Order: sequence, then structure tokens, then C-alpha cells
Amino acid sequence: MISVAEALDHLFKLARPLGVETVPLLQAHRRVLARDVAATRNQPPFDGSAMDGYAVTEAAPGLRLRLIGESAAGHGFYQPVKSGEAVRIFTGAPVPQGAKAVVIQEDVTREGDWITLGDRLEDSTHIRPAGGDFKIGDTVGSGRVIGPNDIALMASMNIADVPVARRPVVALISTGDELVMPGETPGPDQIIASNTLGLHALLRDLGAEPRLLPIARDNEASLRTAFDLAKGADLIVTIGGASVGDHDVVANLAPKLGFEQSFYKVAMRPGKPLMAGRFGEAMMIGLPGNPVSAMVCGHVFLAPVVRAMLGLPAQATPRRTGVLADALPANGPREHYMRARMTDAGLVAFGSQDSSLLGILGEADALIVRVPKDGPRAAGDTVEYLPLR
Ligand code: AMP
Ligand code: MG
Repeated sequence: MISVAEALDHLFKLARPLGVETVPLLQAHRRVLARDVAATRNQPPFDGSAMDGYAVTEAAPGLRLRLIGESAAGHGFYQPVKSGEAVRIFTGAPVPQGAKAVVIQEDVTREGDWITLGDRLEDSTHIRPAGGDFKIGDTVGSGRVIGPNDIALMASMNIADVPVARRPVVALISTGDELVMPGETPGPDQIIASNTLGLHALLRDLGAEPRLLPIARDNEASLRTAFDLAKGADLIVTIGGASVGDHDVVANLAPKLGFEQSFYKVAMRPGKPLMAGRFGEAMMIGLPGNPVSAMVCGHVFLAPVVRAMLGLPAQATPRRTGVLADALPANGPREHYMRARMTDAGLVAFGSQDSSLLGILGEADALIVRVPKDGPRAAGDTVEYLPLR
């Protein structure tokens, strides 16, 4: 059995970064910027006014100036302004040639075409210099997950099309004769496929393009059909059938159908029967079927793999540190991801950590990470955890 860190190393070797595609700026939100993009213009493109007021060549208390025109946003005034003159100006308008400052309208008294500056003037020129925000050639760096602020900046740079990492297509194959989809009517010995839907949501959050395939039944023909339907995916994720029971189709049959295994079984709890390798052109990860195991493995393994495929740094899901509200017993030989709640007093691990209990996962805010053979922990100890919210 290998450690979680070793498993991640194997997974990063199996994960191949995908190509680049160009999308309209409006669709670039949450995508990964695949190449630097550069401004094609200066912003502002001219010296612009930051206030509503009067553009002047000099500002001194009591000065009387003659108005010669108006400069508004989108309607500049393109004559030079000389000593003794002023131009009415508004926020966002080009500052006329020769003007050195904008005196805000609150500091001015106007009578017809004449203005008189007030007794106390502000120091600021209220002029935003051309290119003061960014200049032609200034870049937005690749490798970031594009957010609303990046979109605003790229729009301002007149970048209408954005090169982004292609989303990995992930085929999700549930296995089991006992499974039906939510909304269907289960037979007396059946349950609803649950983690499949949870993983689908997780993958979407991660920026992947999940494809929910029909449930594979616990026989070779059905599993073969599922793998056929998975063709073209970048990553195939199977759920269940990963242990060594008679009906564990993935462990028993996937190698026969083309799965080349890189590792099997990880020293973790929940999630031990995890496997990964390649399947033809695709990478494949076989997750355990237990609902919580599958979801925890999603957070611990699928998240870093999808991020690596998107060209983001190949690293484990970032952990935070928190304080324990209650003592915890010593940990066993496997890395343990304990469902816990965040309270004002600190992290409280749930009493039952059985890997089938989705109800407890739903209540959990965090997964406390216990390293293998971690000794007993006291209330007040600092521990690492993965946030779930
Ligand atoms: P398996 O690894 O196939 O033996 O599955 C382990 C346990 O997880 C069994 O109780 C299965 O019924 C359950 N299980 C497997 N796949 C799913 C799934 N997609 N959704 C919910 N439970 C599942
Ligand atoms: Mg099964």
C-alpha cells in the first residue's frame, strides 16, 4: 500500500495537460488563462479628468478665468486652453491640451462665461494620466483562474477572445447491480447512486466537463459498454467495484478490458481501494464505491488531478490549520480524513466516521487530516484540515 503523497505523485505523472482553446470573454469566467494576454491600448487613452469641474492652465485662489468650451466623456474639446482661460470638464473627459489641473466645481463660482476660483483649492490636479492604469503590452499572466476582476481588466484592455485551457472531459462510470438513478424507483434490494452525482458537481466546480454515463452493471458486457461510451474522455472515473469481492467488476475485469494499472490501494481512511492508471488515451481513476470514500477521494485526488490537467500547479489540495475543540484518540496506520464541524470552540470530529454515512458528510465543514500513527491529540492542539465549504 502506498501513501497519499505517493499516490498523488503517480497521479501527476499520469495526468497530461490539455490543449488551449479560445473563448469569448463573456465565457472566460472560472476558466484557466492558458497564455499571457496583452493590452492592445493604453488606459486611459488620454489624460482624463477624475472630477466634474474646470480645466485650467494654473489654479490660484481668486483667479478669474474665461470659459472657452466644454469637454465631456465621449465628447472631447480639441483646442488648446491658454492662460486666463478655462474649459468646463466632466469625469472621464479628455483634458484639453495646455490644461494642468481640474478645479472641482464645488470650488468655483460661475457667472455666464466667467468663473472665479475659490479661496481654498485642493492640491490634487484631478487628472488621470494617459496609460496610468495600463499601457499597450502590459499583460495579464497565464496560469490564473479567471475571476470577475480579471474579466473587467481584460475587457478594458480590449481583449475580446481569451486563450484558456481546454476543460478535461471526465467520464463518470458508476458500477453496481444495486444502483438506480435519483428519481427512479428502487427495487427492494436497491439504493440510489449518490456519490456519482456529488462527484459530477465537484468536477464541475473544478472546471472539468463531467459526462454521466449509464450505470454499469456487475458483469463484463455492461462494463465493456461503459468503457466504450467513455471513449474520447480525458479522464475515466469509475465508482465502486474496486475491492476484491466476487462482484467487484472494476478490480476484476478492467485490466482485461484495457486498463493499465499504475497503483492499487492507498493507506488512507476512508478510500483504501483506490486505483489509477491509463486506459488507452485516457487516464483512469477507480474510486471506491462507499459514498463518503468516493467523495473524500474526489477532494483529495480528483481535485489536484483536474487542476494539473488545466495547467495549474501539480500540488495536493491546500490544507488549513485549526484548533481541536475536543481530544482525539491515536490514529491507526492509515492517513485519516475525519469529518468534522467547525464551532466557535474549534473543530469537532463526528463520533462515527463510518465511510457509508453521507448524512455526516453533509453536516461536515471540514476533513481533519490525521497522519498515519498520529498520537492522541488534546483539545486545543493545532491540526490540519481540508475545508469542505
Ligand atoms: P463496491 O465498492 O462496489 O463494493 O461498493 C461499496 C459500497 O458502496 C456498496 O455498499 C455499494 O452499494 C455502494 N456504492 C457503490 N457505488 C455507489 C454509488 N455510485 N452511489 C452510492 N453508493 C454506491
Ligand atoms: Mg459494487
